[in-house]
Amino acid sequence: MPPPPKPPSLAALKKSARTCRSCDLWRDATQTVFGEGPPDARMFFIGEQAGDKEDREGRPFVGPAGHLLDEVLAEVGIDRRDVYVTNVVKHFKFELRGKRRLHKRADAAQVAACLQWLDAELARVRPRYVVCLGSLAAKIVLGRGFKLMQERGRWIALDVGQWALATVHPSYVLRARSGSGGEDELRRFRRDLMKLRDPPE
Ligand code: SF4
Repeated sequence: MPPPPKPPSLAALKKSARTCRSCDLWRDATQTVFGEGPPDARMFFIGEQAGDKEDREGRPFVGPAGHLLDEVLAEVGIDRRDVYVTNVVKHFKFELRGKRRLHKRADAAQVAACLQWLDAELARVRPRYVVCLGSLAAKIVLGRGFKLMQERGRWIALDVGQWALATVHPSYVLRARSGSGGEDELRRFRRDLMKLRDPPE
């Protein structure tokens, strides 16, 4: 039997995603924000959806939440350039309030339509460790019944030789930091990501 066809390269996927019209989010957004990182990355981070700065720059995790992620990864001893980062939803969804573009959550149909790209990225990179940032990514990877706040920060076997760990999205930590208890959230986020230092074999 011939071997299964190799999935398309990340560059080819990114090019195709540029003109994706599988849902309506492309209409108001500036551009598709595809994942980035080494094609053979061992660690693969999944966020929720492209944000305002990502939409303008065309790259994932370049806004305040991305900076926080970079900071904590550096504390853990991981260079962002060594990991693959992406979002479940590749276009920015927002509502205009005056001149401000306020983040709006993608609906179930938009998420379902966009999963084709995340699936393709995972199939191509075939990471050993998948890190879910936020409940949306966690439920997609670990199942609808996954309870982020109870089950965060633990390695869970996904498939032969593949593991996943979920924690909150860094934007959740940023929001919490603007109120009381924010430092606790940051500590918990750090503690979860410290598990990346010593992943299962
Ligand atoms: S959000 Fe995803 S499915 Fe919708 S148009 Fe953009 S890339 Fe396509």
